[in-house]
Amino acid sequence: MEELPLRRLNQVHQCGVVEASEAVVEGDGLWTTSPGVRIGVRVADCVPVLLAGLLPGQRPWVAALHAGWRGATEFGDPGFGGGILRRGVSRYRGLGGDPKALVWAFGPAILACHFEVGEEVIEAARLDPAWQESLRSQGPSGKPHLDLHGFLRAQALDLGLDPARDGSVALCTVCRPDLLYSYRRGETTGRQWGWIEIG
Ligand SMILES: [Zn+2]
Repeated sequence: MEELPLRRLNQVHQCGVVEASEAVVEGDGLWTTSPGVRIGVRVADCVPVLLAGLLPGQRPWVAALHAGWRGATEFGDPGFGGGILRRGVSRYRGLGGDPKALVWAFGPAILACHFEVGEEVIEAARLDPAWQESLRSQGPSGKPHLDLHGFLRAQALDLGLDPARDGSVALCTVCRPDLLYSYRRGETTGRQWGWIEIG
């Protein structure tokens, strides 16, 4: 088995997106323009988000983000006015990148079928300008379910990302114990990793 790359992130369920370095930093997103630097996030039910684009001068740019409901809403970063995907794309734009050119993917996560949440989560998500009421459904227990993948997708389209460049894998971590780890299923030992690297 290939050796695991360096762990570079101490994930804290917020919205910090930082440039990858040798140090382990606190945050929930990493980006790099350096070839050969593999960056990643680890998740159990949260959404691993991978982005790849080009900066002016054809310089590759990649990012890995960890998006739970806090990270996907501005709850994780009061004052920024958006969650970690908005923050990550904003970093890319800040370097001169065109969001339309981004290749993007959301990995396996807890999907709407199992993501029971409190109303406060829905309230936090509603603050996002891309929110649609269809992202909230009523679960069997009467509590709401949130479509976190759909919510991030709505943000992505709002940010100008191209639906034709979406490589997401809509597998539910709770539905697929044969393939995936899940906190909600009671497993606390394993995680999925979402890695990306400029080759
Ligand atoms: Zn499910």
